Amino acid sequence: MNNEPTKFIDENGLRVDGRRTDEIRPMKVDIGVLSRADGSCYLEWGNNKIISAVYGPRELHPRRMQRPDAAVIRYKYNMASFSVEDRQRPGPSRRSSEISKVSSEAFEPVVMTQFYPNTVIDVFSEVLEADAGTRTAAINAATLALIDAGIPLKSLVSACAVGKVDGQLVLDLNKKEDNEGEADLPVAITQDGEITLLQMDGHLTEDEIKQAMELVKNGCQQIQQIQREALLKKFGQYEGADTEIQSVPLTETSSKQETESVDTESSELISSNILSDESSENQEESGEEQEPDTLDILEDETEQSEDNEDDSDEEDFFVEIVRNNTEGESDDQ
Ligand code: ADP
Repeated sequence: MNNEPTKFIDENGLRVDGRRTDEIRPMKVDIGVLSRADGSCYLEWGNNKIISAVYGPRELHPRRMQRPDAAVIRYKYNMASFSVEDRQRPGPSRRSSEISKVSSEAFEPVVMTQFYPNTVIDVFSEVLEADAGTRTAAINAATLALIDAGIPLKSLVSACAVGKVDGQLVLDLNKKEDNEGEADLPVAITQDGEITLLQMDGHLTEDEIKQAMELVKNGCQQIQQIQREALLKKFGQYEGADTEIQSVPLTETSSKQETESVDTESSELISSNILSDESSENQEESGEEQEPDTLDILEDETEQSEDNEDDSDEEDFFVEIVRNNTEGESDDQ
């Protein structure tokens, strides 16, 4: 029997899945995949497969649960029984309740709930396949599903974990690293750099936590870029592009939603604009509040690497979706 401790990083600095310590797993995103949800997103991240669905805003019952000044956000994270190697017992668990609570708090600062008093926004994230990092994957998917539902957000929320294996900090843990490593630190960050989720399992020194935060911020920025590209693909138009870019439906059933969403009349998708830095800055300076039911994903003013210069069209992108959500209640759940 081999009693040597597991080695997570080889002599070339590569991890068990071939990544470098600062690399995230490949991510694939498809927005608007469920026809009966108000907003939805399917996200694959490494071997994780997650679907998020948003229903609402709609009137909250019982009424005593309503907030007269804002919508209530109800977030439910669930791992399907078939999502892990050993069958996961169906129904809520302490783990899923905890993840639902902390993830809900990760969104609350960015959702402009004040426009929807007395209502509820239900957000469901179902883990179809789990391979570590499911809570962060679900946050990334749910953010896009909220946007797909036309709910105004102040910012994207991008989430990623950082951890420690073989005494080294590594970004975006896979299952082996998560289960057998020395630490796991999931984080969610807004575009302004506000941290809305921070948990930690294991042991890190103060210095390691500082380094880990730098690493994970970088990971979240990469994810934010993927989220923005997915939005662009679904709703957007590149400046100078000949045709509108539409996302490819994953399934037959998603085609209806895709068609509806790209049809400016039926979905009330009002416009996709390229805004300069100046205009978004002016808007912020003037302190003008956005109209209700308007979603803005503003220019990321954080550092952009020189490598990304070619993507400047995307970087300048501003998506504006207007939907009258309070009128468009869904009966389905
Ligand atoms: P996260 O998925 O957010 O990293 P955890 O650290 O709790 O959350 O879990 C890490 C991974 O361990 C999960 O993604 C999943 O692959 C596996 N896992 C978690 N809970 C269970 C469970 N009850 N049964 C089997 N595997 C599980």
